Amino acid sequence: MQHAEISADGLRVFFDALYQAYGPQHWWPIQDERNPRFEILIGAVLTQHTAWTNVEIAIGALREAGPLTAEAMLAHDDLAGLIRRAGPHRVKAERLRALCRWFVARGEFEAIEALDTATLCRELRGLHGIGPETADVIALYAFDRPRFIADAYAFRIFERYGWSGGSRRYERLREAVEASADRHADPVFYDELHALIVAHAKQRCHKRQPDCAHCALAEVCAYASAAIAAE
Ligand code: SF4
Repeated sequence: MQHAEISADGLRVFFDALYQAYGPQHWWPIQDERNPRFEILIGAVLTQHTAWTNVEIAIGALREAGPLTAEAMLAHDDLAGLIRRAGPHRVKAERLRALCRWFVARGEFEAIEALDTATLCRELRGLHGIGPETADVIALYAFDRPRFIADAYAFRIFERYGWSGGSRRYERLREAVEASADRHADPVFYDELHALIVAHAKQRCHKRQPDCAHCALAEVCAYASAAIAAE
């Protein structure tokens, strides 16, 4: 399949078609409006390799056990037990502790907001269990930084759409999207773009047997065009 360069206009067409199909996604889903940004911070770790329904249960258990703050997370005797439903809970408890220790040591939201985006993401990636995707999720949703989340859903859809060939390198795709986005591509755009990509991957562009017949992108998608040509 031929691959084309991502362009600002192409990105807008892609975004608009998905927005038209699925509407606003209202991410990030928050349970406790009193401390939403901290909930995003820990939710980004809890959601690694785990369905969101399990993350909601884990956050609910943490809320019942005390306030959703870094200090409370670090004080829990059995943090792993509280987040048991969120996959490998002992590993994630260690990751949450590392994140919370950094958060407190760095001066919490007020001081961390002063960091430039590259420094913020680099420091997050330096923490135990925080890779580029989780770092960018935190940067985008908790700190309003314009970062494209180049997750597995984005690779799958972009490859089929005709935008991304070759090796699946996170930074390559993130940088390609951010470099081609127009000047209006702000955090609100990236927030919605990521949420729409997730919705599209779950509802139409499945891993196996994508539902091209009902896809809003079918007319401009390389995979769908190739399938029609082969008929
Ligand atoms: S047309 Fe098919 S392959 Fe292309 S984005 Fe839509 S569902 Fe995915």
